[in-house]
Order: sequence, then structure tokens, then C-alpha cells
Amino acid sequence: QRPLSRPENTRYITVSNQKGGVGKTTTTVNFAAALAKSGFEVLVVDIDPQGNASTALGVDHRSEVPSVYDVLINDKPMAEIVAPCPDLERLTVAPATIDLAGAEIELVSLVAREQRLRRALEEYETYRAENGQPRLDFVLVDCPPSLGLLTVNAFVASREVLIPIQCEYYALEGLSQLLKNIQMIQKHLNSALVVSTILLTMYDGRTNLAAQVADEVRQHFPEEVLKSVIPRSVRISEAPSYQQSVITYDPSSTGALAYLEAAAELASRPGR
Ligand code: ADP
Ligand code: MG
Repeated sequence: QRPLSRPENTRYITVSNQKGGVGKTTTTVNFAAALAKSGFEVLVVDIDPQGNASTALGVDHRSEVPSVYDVLINDKPMAEIVAPCPDLERLTVAPATIDLAGAEIELVSLVAREQRLRRALEEYETYRAENGQPRLDFVLVDCPPSLGLLTVNAFVASREVLIPIQCEYYALEGLSQLLKNIQMIQKHLNSALVVSTILLTMYDGRTNLAAQVADEVRQHFPEEVLKSVIPRSVRISEAPSYQQSVITYDPSSTGALAYLEAAAELASRPGR
């Protein structure tokens, strides 16, 4: 594999799949941690009202904390809400609070309702440059399991979509709906958006089913699917209860190594 060099431009990647429990948050958090550990400047934007990515990265997201909600609804600058991840240098988090659950409705009546995250991130990049902070290499957006205005904001703010797919029965169900929605965004709101990456997660090597699902996904998306696969691992599922990524919680576990390898593969591919 090529040595990791910084991408030419900041890579804006939305992690999306409208199914819940497929590993979106786990993938966002562990890719972000792996990339930061490898020396990249990383921002995680948590737009899921559940705030699971904020929790897993050890960042406060009680409802009184300034959050992505204030950015989207009250025009608060991103610079005023981002918080450093306590365990990893170069990793910052824009936390989600439960208030975001209401944002889905509140956004409807706002001006430029689909563009608000994009504009906030553009302003934030300018802020960082003017304040001597290093340019971001990766911005990863963790989405709720729905295709509402929060997810639309993420798609409009991104150039890449990363879809985690669980290697289980029904894995491909709903995928065509997701792809149709992404095409709509491409047509009407963000022509630059592409599905750049698919990650197979929760792979159980002991079952034929996992291998079959993986084969099927690779046949459909030969270019997009990463070679690295994330195994089902207890360490991965334990880490969030210690407010950590598996990368810091148990760096030599198979789960951590798989995410480090997958993140290196992502970084070695050209950005958009
Ligand atoms: P989503 O964000 O898509 O809803 P999560 O990332 O929260 O999904 O994952 C759903 C559940 O599966 C969580 O409890 C998480 O800890 C667990 N999980 C995710 N990936 C793995 C894995 N590779 N091995 C074991 N458990 C996993
Ligand atoms: Mg999630």
C-alpha cells in the first residue's frame, strides 16, 4: 500500500445508510480515530440526535452544550461548538444534542435549509485558516437512520458517501432507495456527490451467509467496496461504553486493526 499522504483537498464524507444498527456510528468514530492516529486532521460532525458518535469520542453532548443544533438553526459558528476528543490529538467533534430531533421540523421553514451545514463548514475552514489552525484532511458526518433534512444537509455538505453494509440477511434491502435518494441530491442539490466507498461490517467469518453477502455486494460495487472488512468483534461493541473508539480502547485488538487497515485504504484512494 502507498504511504499515506495528506489529501490535496479536504475530503468531506457522509456516512449514511437509512437502516439503523448497521454500523454507521461505529464506522464514523473508528475511521475518524484511525485517521487521526495516522496523522490526519479530522473533524467528526454528529448530526444524529442520539449523539452516539459524540459519546463514543468522549465529548459532552448534554442538551445545554452548544451543538450542531445551534449551528443549523441559530447560525452559531462551528468554531464555537467543536470540542477536542480527549483521547486523540488532531481529532475534533461537532457534538449532537437531543435538540437535533426537533431540527428536522425547524429546518423546514428556514432559508437555504439544505445548505446550512455546507455553509457552516465552509466558514469553519476559513476560520481555521485565519487562526493558524491546520487544514482539515477529513470531515466525517455521522447520519441518523433516516433520509430527512438532516441527512440532506450532510449530503449537500459532502463530496463522498460512505455506506457501511452489515454482512447479514437483508443487508441490501433499502440500498436501492438510498441510492435513488443520492441521485436526487446529485441532480438537484449537489452534482459533486458520489458514493465513493462501501465498507462491509460485522463480518462473521464462520458463516456462509456473511461470505455470500460480501460476494454479492462486491459484484454490484466492485470499485467502491474496500478490500478490508470489519469483523464482528466484542471489543468494537464494548468501546463506546468507555467513551472511546476501539482504536484507543484496545489498539491491538482485531477490531482496531481492521479499522486501521480500512482507514488506511480509504486514505490511499484519491479524494473527490
Ligand atoms: P448505526 O449507527 O448504523 O445505528 P452502530 O454503529 O450504532 O449502528 O452499531 C449498532 C450496534 O452494533 C452497536 O451496538 C455497535 O456497538 C454494534 N457494532 C457495530 N459494529 C460492530 C462490530 N464490527 N462488531 C460488533 N458489534 C458491532
Ligand atoms: Mg448511529
